[in-house]
Amino acid sequence: MAERYFCAIKPFGIVSQVAGIYALVMQIIDGKQVAEKVLSECSDRIAALKEKGVTPGLAVVLVGEDPASKVYVGSKARKCVELGIYSRKIELPADSTQEEVMAVVEELNNDDKVHGILVQSPPPPHIDEEAIVRAINPAKDVDGFHPENVAKLALEDPTGFVPCTPAGCMRLLKEAGVETSGAEAVVIGRSMIVGKPMALLLMGKAGNATVTVAHSRTKDLAEVCRRADIIVAAIGKPEFVTADMVKDGATIIDVGINRVEDASKKSGYKLVGDVAYDECAPKCKAITPVPGGVGPMTIAMLMQNTVQAAEATL
Ligand code: NAP
Repeated sequence: MAERYFCAIKPFGIVSQVAGIYALVMQIIDGKQVAEKVLSECSDRIAALKEKGVTPGLAVVLVGEDPASKVYVGSKARKCVELGIYSRKIELPADSTQEEVMAVVEELNNDDKVHGILVQSPPPPHIDEEAIVRAINPAKDVDGFHPENVAKLALEDPTGFVPCTPAGCMRLLKEAGVETSGAEAVVIGRSMIVGKPMALLLMGKAGNATVTVAHSRTKDLAEVCRRADIIVAAIGKPEFVTADMVKDGATIIDVGINRVEDASKKSGYKLVGDVAYDECAPKCKAITPVPGGVGPMTIAMLMQNTVQAAEATL
């Protein structure tokens, strides 16, 4: 599940004797590989569902022309097709009214072929996104954003849907063999999509970690982070977490996806995380790269949630 690299000599972590010296074995957590494993598990579950006459279905609604959202919606639909999940893609014009979007959600709520509904975020500013999320049948809310699923997460009720990105982060920690029980975890960011559910998962029975949630009002963030055995960075600021904020031997899960200018690239930009990877990685026991870390997990967990939604109808 992870590549192992020999790094500079460090007095901690797993050690290996290389040419007579002891070196830290640092794990680069390979999100693509773990995502493949999750998708392969989904394939088995989909085959079992089909034997029982059920084809899982996912509907993705896109309102407007946001280019990044178009890419996300396209890749979700493609992944469905690859796995044999019935896929519906509904594209609405940017000037659609709230009522028109609500009507589509209602139609999908009543479509038996659709087990999961996702309205791509962010919709145009005149659309009340929260109202849309509340209108989705919680049993089809595969994003896990409906208040009923948020409550189920807090209650540790397994019938709820866990938001895909934090669910993916937990799976990465598990596959990388990172011990969360009793660990000091610092989650930077308190969004409903990543930070808050991540903190709930880490502190719950699946994680059993001691969790600190940091945000823009946190005092002396560097000091808070230096306590952490596990840092989850979900800030949205390129390379915000620097080596001085990281304890030797920590594990870092970098959720951030930021575009920064890069003249050497054809596109004129490159993707970086919320963590200054090059300077932090040598201090880490394990770290996710960007791209290729958390990113591939989000879509894999969406497929897993869709399968879960279909199984619940049996
Ligand atoms: P968000 O809603 O903008 O939340 C960012 C959080 O970071 C907020 O809680 C904010 O604090 C905190 N923050 C901002 N500046 C800070 C500072 N100087 N010090 C400490 N905390 C600070 O973002 P999000 O939706 O959670 O996403 C976070 C990042 O993850 C983004 O880069 C996004 O693109 C990425 N992401 C990736 C995936 C994936 O599939 N890999 C999925 C979702 C998101 P306040 O609450 O105080 O403002």
